Amino acid sequence: MNIHEYQVKQIFKEYNLPIPKGVILTNYKNSIDQAIDLGGKMWVIKAQIHSGGRGLAGGVKIAKSLKDVEKITKNMIGMKLITNQTGPEGKIIEKVYIEKAVDIEYELYLAIALDRALETPIIIASSKGGMDIEKISKESPEYIIKIPIDTEIGFKDFQGIDLANKLNLPKDDIPRFIKFAKTLYKIYNEDDAELIEVNPLVKSKNGNYIALDGKMGLDDSALYRHHDIEDMRDLHEENKNESEAKEYGLSYVQLDGNVGCMVNGAGLAMATMDIIKHVGGNVANFLDVGGGAKASTVAKGFEIILRNKKIKSIFVNIFGGIVRCDRIANGIIEATKNVNINVPVVVRLNGTNAQEAKELLKNSNIENIIVASNLEDGAKKAVELSIKL
Ligand code: GDP
Ligand code: MN
Repeated sequence: MNIHEYQVKQIFKEYNLPIPKGVILTNYKNSIDQAIDLGGKMWVIKAQIHSGGRGLAGGVKIAKSLKDVEKITKNMIGMKLITNQTGPEGKIIEKVYIEKAVDIEYELYLAIALDRALETPIIIASSKGGMDIEKISKESPEYIIKIPIDTEIGFKDFQGIDLANKLNLPKDDIPRFIKFAKTLYKIYNEDDAELIEVNPLVKSKNGNYIALDGKMGLDDSALYRHHDIEDMRDLHEENKNESEAKEYGLSYVQLDGNVGCMVNGAGLAMATMDIIKHVGGNVANFLDVGGGAKASTVAKGFEIILRNKKIKSIFVNIFGGIVRCDRIANGIIEATKNVNINVPVVVRLNGTNAQEAKELLKNSNIENIIVASNLEDGAKKAVELSIKL
């Protein structure tokens, strides 16, 4: 799960990490009063959408007068913002965050992320803060510093010194920088984050390190330990199908291809996606109906898969371990009564009561259903149908 910049900054504040003074608004009407309350002579108005690259897309604007604050806020709320991360459909800005502008001495990039290859968190830092970090990492990777952290011993001072030296920080700034980085690592750990990114982290003219931007990605499986963070969920930002699936105990992730998948078990679902790719197809979604799938869950699964208009065929791949195959077959038959399944459905069933299940499907005489003899056969059939139609 991701959260908004202003929410990340609330968390930073609880840990005493310096942030600019700011206020969240959904309406421009009292923006001037709010800016007066913040104080200062310049303000930054920032679109609160789950995306980076807002600056370049017009989602971060500097207001040099109170009149400007109102004008920019009024324009921004309700506007569609298209960044290099939102896709061409963009996102509607529902909230803006107004901050008192900071006088910047220099900008850095600082992040903590999980390095899956090293199997540890790593600190990523760069003296080229505030810019498009993906671009820098491609064009001048020498400006990106990565330091792995041993989770047993944590983030140590010597690593902070090493980092600060590689960033060429002025000597006097080093202790404060280390304190900032250590606090960030503490948040990363305590909140079960997968990513925390501060870009830019700035040294202000009055000598402080301040998080001018903040991004946090959290581990969904650990959210039960963080109800305060879970409450920050913004359903507008999430794929509606994915949230609805969650309510029914399904895990669904929409992808770009045209072969829909319905599978029980996350591992089998991954393997199914691999084999579809292997035989030349493109997967439209990940869908794990879980171990205890009922007829109604299967029906819901079909309903959600079919909302994606790119779908050309569906591959149902079930291994009957905990769940019995005949129950799934009945679920499919039941689903065809309630959901208009207008694409061919290739079904591969194996395990407990697979034979009975195949009989049930054959005898149901539903025209769109094709029973596959094994996994490879099923994947091939589903992919052929996705290309042909
Ligand atoms: P992003 O483009 O989505 O990453 O949004 P950011 O929050 O990083 O803002 C983009 C850029 O606006 C930053 O890199 C800064 O250069 C600039 N910016 C943001 N806040 C301030 C501020 O308070 N003062 C100044 N001078 N620049 C700011
Ligand atoms: Mn940024």
